[in-house]
Amino acid sequence: MTENQFGRLFATNTYNGNDDAVLKKLLGLELRALPTPEETSLIPFYEKVPDEDFKQYIEHEFCLYLSQGCKYGCEFCAANRTFCDPVTGEVTKVNERYRNLNIIEDELKYMVTRAQKLGISSFDIYLSNLDTFQTPQKLKEFAAIVNNIKKANPGFTFKMRGLSTAAAFMETYRDNKDVITFMVDAGLWSIGFGVDGTSKEVWKSIKKGHNQINECIEAIKLTREEFNITPEVFMVVGHANDTPETLRDDVEFILDMAEYYGAAPRPYVTKSIVPGNTGWRDPKNAAYVEKFIEHPEYFQALDFCALPTSLTHPNAEMRVHIEKSFVMLTNIAGNTTNIVYPFSPDVDERTNRTHGRLNRGKFDR
Ligand code: SF4
Repeated sequence: MTENQFGRLFATNTYNGNDDAVLKKLLGLELRALPTPEETSLIPFYEKVPDEDFKQYIEHEFCLYLSQGCKYGCEFCAANRTFCDPVTGEVTKVNERYRNLNIIEDELKYMVTRAQKLGISSFDIYLSNLDTFQTPQKLKEFAAIVNNIKKANPGFTFKMRGLSTAAAFMETYRDNKDVITFMVDAGLWSIGFGVDGTSKEVWKSIKKGHNQINECIEAIKLTREEFNITPEVFMVVGHANDTPETLRDDVEFILDMAEYYGAAPRPYVTKSIVPGNTGWRDPKNAAYVEKFIEHPEYFQALDFCALPTSLTHPNAEMRVHIEKSFVMLTNIAGNTTNIVYPFSPDVDERTNRTHGRLNRGKFDR
């Protein structure tokens, strides 16, 4: 999002705290080199958190910032990933970047010691990795750290889940199978695979050509049958090239994976233009983007858990098919996605207010 868009949305005296350059300027630190996020320890921050709040934080599932960045370039994805500038055509290659593992080890040791003092003997962790098996050597080092901490603290358990492409998982399975085993020993209990379609054409159209149906099935099967942990299937539907037929294939795929391998469905509806992704930056979508800046309440319609609207899926007939498939997917046993009712110009004010009330308190988990 540009500075101008940010200012118009949140007022000009609001600052983007996610931007280190903005924070540096605000704190008058322009002349000092700040450490990179990968070299920053969170311990000084944790030390400032009172016991009561820290306990509440670690009693629930929390995200462990282990790595960021993904070498792939799926168009709908707003994460830090390889992308092609829509104006210049220049490709910026991104690779997965791990945080300094010594810093992570110190952080985890600090957290375990403090947790034990607070009477807590387990951690429930969501790994930050966008594609957990993309850098197996680093992952192996991380697994060793967790396994050593567990050995030094008998009875303390780690429960971890993460996201993965089927491609990276299968490559690791073929070349570095022990990494998967070490991670399972360390406490990995679930892997969420980004399937997001079932047809080659759709995958190609969203630049997700690394997916192959056989690899997706194999990865899900191995997760359940060989590693005895839970596969989750991310299924983002409603892409521009989807047809009623491809949507039916997607629903059947999840039904099969749930039935054969006890996979948990994680369905979503794509929003092809969202802040941070390629579509948002493309000047040809300026009028579309402007509609959201003028009506910030419509941003809710961009939530991937939200039903499709005329804002995000202008073809009325396809919108019905997409909504139907999404609702079907959320009805499959084990589903974790809560449907969000969008704020949109499609319905009157009263209905939008009802949608707001229906959405209260909805989270993935
Ligand atoms: S593989 Fe996942 S994280 Fe990487 S670009 Fe695609 S959707 Fe984003």
